[in-house]
Amino acid sequence: MKKLGINTTCVHIGEVKDTQFKGAISPIFMSTSYAFDGVEVKRYPRYLNTPNQEALCKKIAALEKTENALIFGSGMAAVSHTLLAFLQKGDHIVLQQTLYGGTYNFVVEEFEKFGIEYTFTKSLKIDDFKKAIKPNTKVLFIETPSNPLLTITDMKAVADVAKENGLITMIDNTFATPINQTPIDFGIDIMIHSATKYMGGHSDILAGAVAASNQQIERIWNIAKNLGGSLSDFTVWMLERSLKTMNLRVKRQSKNALKMAKYLEKHPKIAKVYYPGLKTHPQYALAKKQMKRFGGMLSFELKEGIDAMEFQKNLQLIKPSMSLAGVESTTLSPAQTSHALLSSEAREKQGIKDGLIRFSVGIEEVKDLIVDIEQAIEKSLV
Ligand SMILES: *Cc1c(COP(=O)(O)O)cnc(C)c1O
Repeated sequence: MKKLGINTTCVHIGEVKDTQFKGAISPIFMSTSYAFDGVEVKRYPRYLNTPNQEALCKKIAALEKTENALIFGSGMAAVSHTLLAFLQKGDHIVLQQTLYGGTYNFVVEEFEKFGIEYTFTKSLKIDDFKKAIKPNTKVLFIETPSNPLLTITDMKAVADVAKENGLITMIDNTFATPINQTPIDFGIDIMIHSATKYMGGHSDILAGAVAASNQQIERIWNIAKNLGGSLSDFTVWMLERSLKTMNLRVKRQSKNALKMAKYLEKHPKIAKVYYPGLKTHPQYALAKKQMKRFGGMLSFELKEGIDAMEFQKNLQLIKPSMSLAGVESTTLSPAQTSHALLSSEAREKQGIKDGLIRFSVGIEEVKDLIVDIEQAIEKSLV
């Protein structure tokens, strides 16, 4: 068949055909018990090979343009299973400086007991990746755009350095999604997702995914069946349903985020806006080179005199929320939540000011979001 367009891929690739009743959508096979005799495949949910699991993996692989994929019970299960599949005792990994907090914690809290060494790069500059590589380095791990300041890592430069040194590259592609960026086109080997975010997209699914070559997926599968972080078939089915609209949702969220970034940038009560789609973003040119659109996430700093918590309490439509990427707009203040345990100085060092708001832009009408922000700022001033 001719190469399918993105929406067609989202809707049709990896369907489970309802051969019994000819229904329009995939039936759910909830069975945890399958025949072992006279069958081609010995199926079991923890082996990640039920009909729904297999079908969903095909869809995710098609979106990331890889040979294969696997799905897990959470984004962190995808991260941890994949890292442990490629790192043995005595190996070393280079990870980029700013990473999702859960990934950072997994590395610093768990790696020592496995005898795995790690280095976080000093900055996102390619020279700092090169400097961190040791004779026993096996993996380079990146995340772009990053959370919460939306910095961009040069995927091609990292992939080139990895190839020169015979290393595997992994990316946490959660923020961009394959709709806005397909890292394999730049030479990255393994794409990891918290499907809890844009893939799910409705704030009602906890899931993870990894996409890579057949050979690499087999290696991850071999450890996955022992660790057991698989996803229930009902959630698999929910995720298949969500992915059908992923292109529509993410495109709209990206369009809305760009409009909101431009509006916030001009606002007299906003000190700074972080969004890779703004020409004022220091890495705009790089973002443009490797992304199709700039995503639905942005951050902004309220000027002094406006309290971040007060501002969020005063929002009526936009919800303060720990997570992100739903069709509804949400905010989070890192200084009071994800980075609350750090001292004020340590936060400042990372560029996280007390007035910083992370904004996950939904699919609503931009004019309604603007009205909400205007009234919340107004109320927070008095
Ligand atoms: C949320 C998130 C994760 C972890 O995913 P869970 O589904 O919560 O386990 C990993 N990476 C990024 C970038 C995330 O936003």
